[in-house]
Formats: sequence, structure tokens, C-alpha cells
Amino acid sequence: MNEKTIWDHLRNKGLSPAGTAGLMGNLYAESGLNPKNLQNSFERKLDYSDEEYTQQVDGGFYKNFVHDSAGYGLAQWTYYSRKQALLDFAEAARKSIGDLSMQLDFLMYELERNYNVLFRSLKSATSVKAASDAVLLQYERPADQSDAVKTRRAAYGQKYYDEFVGKEETSWTTKSETSTTSGKKPSTNSQETEVKTMSNSSLVVYKKISPNKTSPRNHAIDTITIHCMAGNLTIETCGNVFAPTSRQASSNYGIGSDGRIGMYVEEKDRSWCSSNGVNDHRAVTIEVANDGGANTGWHVSDKAMAALINLVTDICKRNGIKKLVWSDKKDDRVNHRNGCNMTVHRDYANKSCPGDYLYGKHAYIAAEVNKRLGATTTETPAVTPTTGSFLVKVMITDLNIRAGAGTNTAKKGVIKPGTYTIVEVKSGKGSTAGWGKLKSGAGWISLDYAKRV
Ligand SMILES: [Zn+2]
Repeated sequence: MNEKTIWDHLRNKGLSPAGTAGLMGNLYAESGLNPKNLQNSFERKLDYSDEEYTQQVDGGFYKNFVHDSAGYGLAQWTYYSRKQALLDFAEAARKSIGDLSMQLDFLMYELERNYNVLFRSLKSATSVKAASDAVLLQYERPADQSDAVKTRRAAYGQKYYDEFVGKEETSWTTKSETSTTSGKKPSTNSQETEVKTMSNSSLVVYKKISPNKTSPRNHAIDTITIHCMAGNLTIETCGNVFAPTSRQASSNYGIGSDGRIGMYVEEKDRSWCSSNGVNDHRAVTIEVANDGGANTGWHVSDKAMAALINLVTDICKRNGIKKLVWSDKKDDRVNHRNGCNMTVHRDYANKSCPGDYLYGKHAYIAAEVNKRLGATTTETPAVTPTTGSFLVKVMITDLNIRAGAGTNTAKKGVIKPGTYTIVEVKSGKGSTAGWGKLKSGAGWISLDYAKRV
């Protein structure tokens, strides 16, 4: 619930509702309101996730925080003197560099000392747009200060204004679990898709609505993001995990190993699931329990897999998704190339989620859902045959070695987890990533369960 915390913090410091909203819209544009946000291009360059970067700075292991030119935190502080001041501030407060309230205090300190004209105008502001423009031009000063950017940031701010001013003035009855599709119409700029009335799946047998969400979502549902729980949680336990605001995480749905389906965030709302706001505003997120541990690539039970296929089919039908399209290339997924409408958590964060098992099943899930939707896909996606050797790591303990490239050939034993050389790849029955020929001559293994190293 960073939004509410930030709103209250800024209001308590004397900013007007419009001033608070205008500032928050800019912070959202900069960091998604994530105080640990490391500028994306630096996540790749430094090979750190938000979390790792924060820990390395806190632990004193990473020495270049001040001078690395990487944007960081709520306001994406970048310039060395501002990062030095932020670091000093955090050290004086004995807080993590990624601590939310420390950063808000620092933000107010900066505004008051160095941007006093802006600070005073945010206290008396009555227009969200004017306040947002002032923050953009005087404080954030991004490279792109076009009208489109101004409009978009003001629209983000307006959403917070609509949400929180309403709550300050009228004490709303709690949004109960039974509230159906009463999503407020979000204020949008012309480029954003208007949110349609969204329903929820009737396959749900258990509901525990999480406070960790953004209501309503700002984009129509056109994407499915399947996650692994990294544990064998029941749908009730998963609901309890997402219940406290301190958890800062949720999903739209959850599926237990027994095949039962729970709901934690209604489809009309954005869950906080995939470490990426843009994705989660357009995706329905589904957490699936694992009946095997990390050494199985987070295996999923047959019942959970069947329920997952049913649930995804239902989501597609109700939201007008005619066909699921998977790609094994991250670039296709995150850019929705060629109609690709399935994404995975590892695209957006340094995580193994959804686990190698579910990851390898995505083409199969798409094919099964498409059968039910009456859309056509190739059952066994063609894998470009290759020769030339490469190394793979086998993670699971029960991977069969086959006599040929397919589950329709004889089993020749089980391969131990470890690193192996593959000398040839062919497509074949029962594997979406294709079959790899072992250099030893022992036979072929499904590359769904092996990771290229
Ligand atoms: Zn995940």
C-alpha cells in the first residue's frame, strides 16, 4: 500500500490534495512508487535487481552508488550530489537506502531547502495538472518534457486525487469482497484504453480480497501472467500471505495442488504480482502451487495444471482474448510481438518464477487453451533443428533419457542433475523446447527441463 502511505505522508507535511496528487503522479512515472527502483537500463548494466542493488548499497559492498549515474528510488535520484545527500540522509536516519518513509522525508527536505518556490506552490495548489507540470519542469526535469508526457503524468496524479480525496471526504463503506464491478471510471488521457466492466471467474471457490492492489486497473485485460508460489501453498494460505499490507504483493488468482481456485484481487483491479506495473495493469496474474521443490523446477500437480488451463480459458472467453500466443523469446513477450500475450515474472525481475517446469509448459498451456477457444495452434511447436554443441544444466531429478527425439521412443534411464553437452536438437512429441542429443551417446532428453548455460 505504498500509495496510501505516500499520500498520507505528503498530506501530513502540508501539501494540498492537488499538490500531493501532482507530485505523486510524477513519482509514479519515475519509479512506479517503488522506493527500491533502480533505473532499468542499469539493472542490466550492473546485473543487479532492485533488491540486490539496495542490499549491496546498504551492506557497504557496492561503493559506486553516488557516482554511477543510475536513477534510484521514488524520484529516481540520479545526479551525484543528490545521491550523496540521499545516502547521507539514510545513514543519519540509520535506515535502508530503499526505505519508503526515509525517502519521503528526504524528498520533503530537498523540496524545502532547494526547491522552495515549488514547495510553497504545492502547499497551495488547487489544480492537479498545474501541480504536476510544476514538479515535472522544476523538480524531476526528465529529458522528455513534451505535452504528451505532461498529460500522462497529470493523469496519473488525477487518479490518486480521485481515489484519496474521495476517501478523505466521504468515509466509504469498506469495499467488501462482494462488490462486483463497481470500479470507478479512471481518469484517462486519450491514449489509454478505457476500462470496461470486468467480471470474475465463476470457477473460484474461495475469496480473500487483498488490500495490495491498484484499483481500478488502467488497461483492458489482454495478457496472462502465470506465476509459481515456490511452495505447496493452499489457496487459503496464499490468501493469508497476501492479506497484510506489509506484504506489498498479491495476484488476481491462485491455484492449489488440489486444483481448487482462489481469488485475491478482482479482475477489474491491478494485482501487485509481476514486478512491473505496466504488465500487471493489462495482465491477469495467477499463482500456482508447487508439489515439488526448486530441484524439480517447481513442479506443478496434474490437478493444478488442469485447473490452470480451465481458468485461463475462462479468462480469455470473458475478456475477448481469441487466442493465446506464447514465445520463448523474452523480447517477443515483453513487447507483445506477433500477438504474444503471455508474459512471465522472470521477464521483469531477477527471479526464477514461474519455475523451469511451468515455464516449459507455456506452449502446451497455450495449445490446450486454444483448443478450448476453438483457435488453432501447432500442437508441437516446430523447433529449428540445429547441429553444433552447447551446454545445458539439468535441474530435475527424474528426467528420462529417450532412445530418440520424442516421448514415443523408448526410455533408456534417468539422467542425474548436472551439466551436459548437447550435440543436436530436433523437435518431437512431448517437448516444446525440442529434444537434445547427449554427447555421450546415451540418448535424447527433453530441453523443457534443461537450461542452456
Ligand atoms: Zn512470480
